[in-house]
Amino acid sequence: MPQQIKCSVSECQYNSDLACDAPMVQVDRNGVSKASNSPQTKCETFKPRG
Ligand code: SF4
Repeated sequence: MPQQIKCSVSECQYNSDLACDAPMVQVDRNGVSKASNSPQTKCETFKPRG
């Protein structure tokens, strides 16, 4: 099954046409012990371009 991760963070070097090209993506809680909404999560695989 093809995986598809849509991501609008175009400044990430894994981003290609608003899709994620990384072979795997790590998502963690954004400094909280129990996430209850999207801002409380974040992509750890993000890597700035350049
Ligand atoms: S690694 Fe994370 S931030 Fe970068 S394109 Fe993939 S999902 Fe988006």
